[in-house]
Formats: sequence, structure tokens, C-alpha cells
Amino acid sequence: MRRSADVDALQHVLCAALGSRVPVCSIAELGQDAEAFGALDPTARESPTLLGGGAPYLPTTPAPGPQALDALVRRAEALDVPQILVPNVRRSDDTRALRAAGFVPVAADTECVLRLTGEVDELLRARVGADQLRDLRRRHHAVSREVSWERIRLSELDERPWARDAFVELHQRQVERHGGHHNPYNAEALDALAHGVLADRTEMLVRRRQNSVVQAGLITKSHSGRGLYYLTQAIDHDDPVARRNLYVASLYRLYLHARRSGLDWVHLGRGDADRKRRLGADLFVPLDHWLRAPGLAPSEEQEEELALSDFAAPPVTTVPVPGPARFRHRPRFDLIDLSSNTNPFLGAESRYPELDTAELARTYLATLSKWPGNEGLGALSADHLLFTSGAVDGVMLLLAALTSPGESVCVTPPTFELYAHFARVLRLPVVEVPLSGDDLCGLDTERILAADPRVTLLCDPNNPVGTRLDRTQVKDLVARSRGLVVIDEAYVEFSENPSYAELIAQHDNLIVLRTLSKAWGLASARCGIGLAQPGLIDALRRVQVPFGFTNASQHAVRDRLTNSRRVRAGIRHIRTERDRMAAALADHPAVDRVFPSEANFLLVRLHKHERVMDQLRGAGILVADTGHLVPATCRISIGDRRANTTLLDVLSTAL
Ligand code: PMP
Repeated sequence: MRRSADVDALQHVLCAALGSRVPVCSIAELGQDAEAFGALDPTARESPTLLGGGAPYLPTTPAPGPQALDALVRRAEALDVPQILVPNVRRSDDTRALRAAGFVPVAADTECVLRLTGEVDELLRARVGADQLRDLRRRHHAVSREVSWERIRLSELDERPWARDAFVELHQRQVERHGGHHNPYNAEALDALAHGVLADRTEMLVRRRQNSVVQAGLITKSHSGRGLYYLTQAIDHDDPVARRNLYVASLYRLYLHARRSGLDWVHLGRGDADRKRRLGADLFVPLDHWLRAPGLAPSEEQEEELALSDFAAPPVTTVPVPGPARFRHRPRFDLIDLSSNTNPFLGAESRYPELDTAELARTYLATLSKWPGNEGLGALSADHLLFTSGAVDGVMLLLAALTSPGESVCVTPPTFELYAHFARVLRLPVVEVPLSGDDLCGLDTERILAADPRVTLLCDPNNPVGTRLDRTQVKDLVARSRGLVVIDEAYVEFSENPSYAELIAQHDNLIVLRTLSKAWGLASARCGIGLAQPGLIDALRRVQVPFGFTNASQHAVRDRLTNSRRVRAGIRHIRTERDRMAAALADHPAVDRVFPSEANFLLVRLHKHERVMDQLRGAGILVADTGHLVPATCRISIGDRRANTTLLDVLSTAL
């Protein structure tokens, strides 16, 4: 709830529930959030507490500003109440005033939201996978056969006393199950709600089995009219069908109802993010309760602020985070947004893309960390990750954010040519330190260190060669370099050897770039990934053009990450085909040498380079002519079997 009138209305509901004019009650009596408050001193749990800003069962309370807090503190003094609790504040809100007024955060659960971006089944299949969707639908159908679905306006409750009584009783039993004293949804509370500003937007949801009420809850439309809050619900745990299936089945039904009503989101309340993720939630906002109590002081950890990396170039450090990027973590789903100068009449596409991609970042890290060689990603958080418009955008971004005029950029030819190109475009001197050895995978570490570049760009597996660099040398370079080391791992999913992401925690000068364009088959979505310590990622974020990651791309990426089995099968297939092609080409009379490859392409040295290139062009086959990087070579991507076989045939005719 982001409108203060709604929050005030719920405060009245709380007062009615407590049977007092002011919302004062001990934290223990509330019987809420035993886990969050469990760590508090018993005195803090037992002392009378003024509940400020909102009520404990609210989805959220907007963080109060200095004036509101001042009034709250004075009210507590006048009432002689020693403690104040402002519950359920989003961590992304501006909480400086709370801190300044001596409030301390107590970490609460996360609020969870499902955004309706299309047909319910389609979006659930993409978010939770086909098996989980089948399970949701099965429960929904099983329940629908036996249990009713009734929505009752609060103004009509007087005509249905059985619904009111069942609602109160189920909530009373719920409170007792959790060891609390006060039922926040007793008859008086319900009455206050029915006569407050939320009455018009709130319905009681009742489900009956053989005429006995097995579930009762409240759903409230947001003040924007775009979404639904699941304000509360209680289930009859003595009923076996209800206990087993009803919670999940009712949510699914609610999604269908919201979609049919043209709504954009459903708020699932607070809870365990992983569990709610399996129910389709895709937006998770961490919450804190803010408590002011005698003798309560913030811990050092709570005081700690994210420090920007020392590598950030001066304009990046001195300028505040520009415009929308500042609101990255501020969920905007339940606001009336009149801040963006867009057209309100032309549907969802008229809105700017979602800026809060933290959940998608977590999905990426969680998915990839299960892949062999990528375990290091499991130790990283959303603050370690930046989505870019492809890995190439990441290169441009990091050069712009982390270098100053005159600082040099080191590249190791033969390598991806865009690195040096971008550096030159930005007027940065380029130092070339060629790779050595037959397989072109040796670094000349001493020469690189002697050049003392601001940034060294490595590509591993290396394009156009396909080999991995010498791992010991790369690690040594990262450890000894004064400047930044960037490792472009665009092709790492095809490799048998591990990613360098596991080194990020130890090295504040390392950036790993990844992409969804290669193994993940999403080149058209333009999604690259930068991984580094949060201070570096923050510097890149300050420079990035906002809104580059479109909603369509975000959906495509989420979909692909959730259904990654196909991707892994594709990678296996490409590796097999690569090895078949490598063997066939190695035996081919037109070929002088095939370089070993851990990527999805092969670098091939030809006997008659010019002639073969002409022949391939003439046959309508496009391969990369890499003769200017490695003499007499071309780089052949691994295609499907038919394309690969055609290429082999054409090579034969070139002889
Ligand atoms: N890095 C390397 C080494 C590449 O070879 C390529 C594609 N040729 C890219 C990055 C481009 O990746 P993206 O599509 O993510 O920009």
C-alpha cells in the first residue's frame, strides 16, 4: 500500500482490533513475525509499542519523512509509550530520516508480487516451468470440483453473517496456531474496514466445501486500479482438501481472475521468496521493520554503505547516479506513475522497461551456478551483476566508466577486434601484447605488467582461435596487475574448463563478461552480463544508458533461463558436431591445420587461403576471413549438420 490514506485506514482497523483509540500494543502480543523479532531483547518484545505509519499486517508502509517521524516521536512521548515500531518498510525506500531519528532496522520477510505480462499459463510456464504449471493446474481443478469461489463486497457483509463469522473464526484459529493473542481480523476490525476508505476496493473471498467455509480472505484493489493485494487469508487446517491444496489453488484462480479483469499484478503478501517464486512471483522486495527502543543501536554491518570502486573515473565518482538508474531498486508496480511523460492510452508497451532486474540477476546466477565449472557464480549476488546490451556494450561501458584520458588499454592479438576498436574510439592508447605458442594461448605477463595498462582485455575462450588461455598465467596477471583485468567469457559454456567468476570475491580489479548470445541462443535479445565486485558494478551502472534492457528481452531471458534443459542439450550437440568437424577438416586436403577449440567455432589454416575463400563465397557460404589476424586462416562457426556437411563438400571442390 503506497497511499497514506490507505495506510491510515488500516491503522484504524488495527485500533479496532485492539479495542483502543491508539495503536499501542507490545510486539509479543501482536504475535507477528516471531522470527524477525525473536532476536530482540525480551524487554523490547514485551514493552508497550506505538505502531507508526502502518499496521503489522500491511503489505508495506512508505518510509516516513522527518516531519511525520517528529510527530510520531512526540505522540509516543505524550502517551508515555517507550517504543515506536514502523513496520514493513521497503528496503529500497529512502530510510535516512528513520535512521536519523534513532530507528534501527529489523530484517523482515520479502514482499512478493506476480506481474501479469501475458496469458496466465504462458507466463507461469516461462517462470516456473511446465511441470510446476501442471501441478498448479491439477490442484486448481481438484479443488474446483469440490470447493466454491465467492467474492463478497464488504458492503454486503451484513446480509451474509455466516461469511463474517467464518472469516473471524478462521483468523482466530490462525492466530492461536502461531501463538499470538490478538486477532487482527476480529469482528470489530472487519467492521472498521467495511466503513473505511478501503471498503469500496475490498472484497471478501470465501471458499466453501459442503457448505462449510474452508478459506476466507480479503483482496483489495490498489489505489491505481492496476493490481490486487492479497491482504489476508486463513484456511481451515482441519479440512484435508483445504490443507493440502487450497492455498495454491486459490492463488492460481486469483491470477486468472486478475488477468480477466485486465490487471497488471497480484501482490502475494510477505513470505519466503523461493516458495513464492515457485508460484510465479517475479518481483521481490526486501522489507524491514524499524524500531526505536531505549538502548537499541544499529550494528556496524547495518551502518555500512556500498563503497564505489577506486577504479571509477572522476566524472563517475563526482556525479550522482543519473535519473532512472537511481530508482533501479524501487519497485513501481503500485504507484500511479505520472513521472515519465509517456502515453497512458496505448497499453503496456507505452511504459518504459522494468529497471529492477535484481530478480532476473538472481535467476541467472542460480541457474548457471549449477553448471559444472560455473559453481563460483553461486557466491555472487545481484549487486555483483550488470545486464548490458550484449557483451560488446559491456566493453564500451567499462572503458567509458573506468578510464581517463591518457590511460592505456592492453589487448592480446589475435583476439576480438572490437576491444581495440572501442578503445581507439574513446581516444585511449592501445598496447598490443601478442599471444604466444603454437596454440596461441600463452600470455606475455611481464610485458603486460611493464606497460601498466589501466585495463587489460582478455578473451577466453579466445575468438578467433578457440583455445583457452593458460589458466595459471591469467590468475597470475589478475593478482599482480595494478589495473583492471577483463575476461570476456562469451564462449565459456562450450568449454570443458571453468569460468573465472570464482575469483571475483578475491579481486577488486577483475571483471568477467558473459553473454546470452552464444550458447544461450538469444543473440537477438541483446543481453550481456558483467560480473564484478559491487563497487565496480555500481560505477558501470552510473554510466549505463537506462532502459536498454527491454521488457521483451527480459521476458525472453527469463524464459530461457527457466527452461535451460534445451540449452544444455544444444551445447552437447554443438560440441559433438565441433569435434566431428575438427576431425573431418584435419583430414581434409585443403586444410593445413585446425586449431584446438573449446568454443563453437574452429580456426582453420588453409593451404590456398584466397582461393578457398573465393570458392566459399561463390557457394553462398559465409565464414569469417581471419587472414589479417592469423595468416591464411578462416573461422568457421559450427552450424547444423546439413550446413557443416555442405561446407565440407564445397571445400573439396576448391582443390
Ligand atoms: N565477445 C566475443 C569474444 C565475441 O566473439 C562476441 C561475438 N562475436 C561478443 C563478445 C558479442 O557478444 P554480444 O552479442 O553479447 O554483444
